[in-house]
Parts: sequence; C-alpha cells; structure tokens
Amino acid sequence: MCKEIRTRIAPSPTGDPHVGTAYIALFNLAMAKKNGGSFLLRIEDTDQTRSTADSEKQIFDSLKWLDLFYDEGPDVGGDFGPYRQSERFDLYGKYAKELVEKGEAYYCFCTRDRLDKLRERQKAMKKAPGYDGHCRSLSSEEIKAKLEAGEDYVIRLKMPYDGETIIKDVLRGEVKFANNNIDDQVLLKGDGFPTYHLANVVDDHLMGITHVIRAEEWIASTPKHIRMYEAFGWDMPQFIHMPLLRNADRTKISKRKNPVSLNYYVEEGYLKEGMINFLGLMGYSVGENKEIFTLDEFIETFDITKVSLGGPIFDLEKLGWVNNQHMRMKDLGELTKLATNFFINREFVSKNPSDAEIKTLERVVEILREPATTLKELATLADIYYVDKFSLPETTEDMSKKVRKPIERLHNALKGEDELKAIKYFIAKLEEAEEEITVDAAKSMLLDTLETLGTGPGKVYMPLRAIITGQGKGAELYNVISIIGKTRTLARIKNMNEQYNIY
Ligand code: GLU
Repeated sequence: MCKEIRTRIAPSPTGDPHVGTAYIALFNLAMAKKNGGSFLLRIEDTDQTRSTADSEKQIFDSLKWLDLFYDEGPDVGGDFGPYRQSERFDLYGKYAKELVEKGEAYYCFCTRDRLDKLRERQKAMKKAPGYDGHCRSLSSEEIKAKLEAGEDYVIRLKMPYDGETIIKDVLRGEVKFANNNIDDQVLLKGDGFPTYHLANVVDDHLMGITHVIRAEEWIASTPKHIRMYEAFGWDMPQFIHMPLLRNADRTKISKRKNPVSLNYYVEEGYLKEGMINFLGLMGYSVGENKEIFTLDEFIETFDITKVSLGGPIFDLEKLGWVNNQHMRMKDLGELTKLATNFFINREFVSKNPSDAEIKTLERVVEILREPATTLKELATLADIYYVDKFSLPETTEDMSKKVRKPIERLHNALKGEDELKAIKYFIAKLEEAEEEITVDAAKSMLLDTLETLGTGPGKVYMPLRAIITGQGKGAELYNVISIIGKTRTLARIKNMNEQYNIY
C-alpha cells in the first residue's frame, strides 16, 4: 500500500507573515489534498531571541485568511505533536547524541576565540570560511576528560571529506554537491538548543513527512539533511525546491522592492481568492489559457511536476488584474460585507451601518467592482457617491496642456448660456421628482433635458456632471443621481452655486 502523503509548512515566527510562506504553503497543501494526504503546520522557533508569540499568531491568522487550512498544527492539534519546536527541545539532544554514538557526529569543544581566529586566517588566505575539523580526531579519552571537566561543547555533523552528495529533486533532477565544500554543521548548540538543520530533519522524520516542498534558498542545506537521514538510517522524503519569487528586476523578492508582508495585502483589501489565484500562477500553470481559478480548481488539477523553474515575477499589476477578476465573480452581498470596513474607515458609512446604508453600499460596490483592483481602491473611488461638498479642480501654471484643458472645460461648462438653461431645467425636473430616483427615472430626466433644450449633449451633460459630481468624467451620472437621491443631488447643486455663482 502507498504511504499517506504528508506535507508541511515550517515557518519561523519572526516578523510579519511573509508572502513566501503563503506561496509554499499553497503548494504543500495542494500536494497533500490532491492525493488524499495531510498538510501540517510546524512552527520552527528554535531561534528563541527572534521568535515571538505575536508573529506566530499572525502566521495562524494569515494562513486561515487564505483558506490554507492545515490538518495538524500548534493551534489545531494532531497525532504527531507538539507542533512547536520549542516544545520539543528535550528530543533533539537525544538524537544528536545518537549520531555521536554512531560515529556520524562529534563533540566540538572549540572556543569562540579559536573559531574567530580560524575565520580571520581563512579570510586572509582567501579561503571559504568553515570549520577545520579540529575536534573530529579527538580520542575518546580526551572527549571524556573534557566532558567531565564541564567544558562547553557543540555537536557537529561529520561530513565525508570526499565524494559527493546528490539531491534527487523532483523538479531539478540530480543536484550534486562536493562533500569537501560542505561544512561540519553544528547540530546542537552550546546552550543545548538544536540548530534548524537538526530540528528540521528530526521533526520531518517523526512527523512522517513524505514530501519536503520548500523554497529554492534551502537547497544548500539539503545535502546536510540527506547526510543526516543516511546517518540515522531513516527513509528519505522526496525533495522539491520551488523557484524563488522575484522582484521585477529578477532579484529575490525583498521588501525594499515589493510588499512582502501578508498583512499589507489584507490592509489593502485584496481578496483571499485573488491572492491564492495569483500565488498559484507563480511558476505554475493550471491549464492552457486558464489564468483565473479557485483554490479548489487549483487542487483538483494539481501536479507538482508541472512547476516550472524560471523565476516567477511577483508583479503587483498582475495581482491587481487577478484580484479584480475575483471581485467581479464574488457574490455581491459577500463582497459588500468585506468592503464595509473600508467604507467605515473613510466615514462613508456608520460603524453599525443601517439596512438602508448597506443597500446603498451594495449598489456602489456593484458599480465600482468593475474598475477597482482592491477593496481599498473601491472605497476611494466611492467619493463621487459619498462626498457632497466639493469644488472643481483648479488649474496651475505648471500643468501640461493635456491636464489643464479638461479642467478649463469643466469650469466653462458652468458659465455658458445654453449650459445654464440645462442646469435650470434639470433643477426644475428634480424638484418635481420623488425622493427616490430609480436609474431609469434618472436616465429619462437627463434625456428629457437634452431633448427639450435641443442643444448638443456636451452642453447638457457636461454642466450637469460638473455641478453634481465636480468631475469631468467617472461614474455614470444617472447612477450617481439614483444612488444619492433627490435631496442630496439638490444640495450638491446648491453648494456648487454658492461657490461659483452659477444661476
Ligand atoms: N524554518 C524554515 C523556514 O523558515 C523551514 C525551511 C524548510 O521548509 O525546511 O522557512
């Protein structure tokens, strides 16, 4: 019988939750789910000075935000726990010592001072830094004496001096490393804490991980891990090193050039569906010409061997496009619920919006989800529906003609004779109207004004647009009028008249 597939994401809880964590989690989750296996979260907090509970909590929250639900983890339990390395510390020393007993690792008593001098010497001789194997040849009597004398020690892995270690990467084929280039890695530190390498391998083994899917940057660690699996005599998982996410200039994704914190994407109002879809496009293709998909569709068609290694570019413009597609697809009620906070932040709706406010909001969201790429942008575009007191933009000396002309046209639209007639006629119509104006009613009022005056549409629509929205273009005027209703439309007109003495 085939072994159950088990995959994991193993982030260190330092700083903000990273987009790279979500990216790797997505592929691990898909690998497990597609094959009826399990996906787990392990918190690698061996670096006690940098790990924080707050950062851990943010990892839980952001994975859940994205629907990247793990079957096992520190906050959900499971049969292979604990899932936080700080709760497993007792375990690692025992395994390090097992390797010492097997002759695969050794005690190293070198002092910091000696290691510093060694590094300086290597630097002066332009040699790669690394441990020189000084303690590898200590006799058992020497070791015993030093231990009894209470000397500080670390435990190091014994790498062979010659030959090579070959990683059989599922995506990359055989990747070879010359053993003499690989340092005798510290496994257990002076304070008894494990290093990443020891804890990672011991836990992957004890947690039954069958596929280690992680970012390319860890590939240099893998020969050490392979060496440990061999030394312990354990079955090896399959290794899959995913291509690194890159900035537009192809350098490794970095916060100087791209927002990398998942919190940023929550705050900007990206949808989880957009984010997941976008991450699923990184180095991967669901099918020919199919760029928009859900998490379920991604899992259904998932095949790890289809990952391509060319460095995927983390392109915010593309993310915006993908996100917009999902905003259009999403249930309107749900999208409105998600958008509400962004409208509250702008004080467009009250903290506990009334049914009427929500109804209006839904209409605004329905219109603005077409042009907006995020919910925050959507709320920004909503000024036209919520801000009743505004002025026309003004021209300045340094403006190019292209920018200046439309502004001048907007001002002129409130000055001409025909334009004034249109405004007055429209006001009269509005005053006759009911408070609630349907889209159709608004359309026919506009059309009526146009037909009655018999001038070109520019002389009718331009002044009305200017006086009701303060803008030359943007949302359809009938939508604005219908959404804000009679009283507010009239109030806007009055306010503009007070500023510009129009009629
Ligand atoms: N703790 C490592 C990280 O922060 C885990 C790397 C791995 O998956 O082995 O990404």
